[in-house]
Amino acid sequence: AEERENLTWELFGSASRELAQEVAADGFVPDLILSIARGGLFVAGALGYALDVKNLHVMNVEFYTGVDQRLDLPVMLPPVPNVVDLTHKKVLVADDVADTGATLKLVRDFCADHVADVRCAVVYEKPASTVKCEYVWKRTDRWINFPWSVLPPVVERAGQVLDA
Ligand code: 5GP
Repeated sequence: AEERENLTWELFGSASRELAQEVAADGFVPDLILSIARGGLFVAGALGYALDVKNLHVMNVEFYTGVDQRLDLPVMLPPVPNVVDLTHKKVLVADDVADTGATLKLVRDFCADHVADVRCAVVYEKPASTVKCEYVWKRTDRWINFPWSVLPPVVERAGQVLDA
């Protein structure tokens, strides 16, 4: 058996289409899609076209990796979306994978007090995820290779730290 999930660009095309169909079949009509950078950008773009939603927002959430550091919790990086843009809206959060679910938990909590409805769509969900996503293309406990991150960058930036 394969040790990894290998999502190719081609498979991503049909996966995102099927994910959109799940959302549509459920009758959920989002006012906006909130993507979680960076992996969620691809998912959000594909869902935006398939669901005919033009209102796309971006949130930067990362497990901060400075010099050999990884936090236990994800953090929001600036720019943080304007809460006014989300208020009373039906929000579809788009990400590539819910692993521990910590990232989506942060985003859900950020939205919860302001929006009318917040639901999550992911390509993959792992069994340990604390957030149970409303829309999931595939459940797996394997490591996933995504087409956008399987290759190393074409540049080398030693000791790169995130700009605040
Ligand atoms: P979380 O643990 O907060 O649900 O996921 C945090 C992030 O870890 C994901 O958005 C993704 O960038 C990364 N991640 C988690 N599991 C995998 C995986 O199986 N493959 C890849 N490429 N990244 C993963």
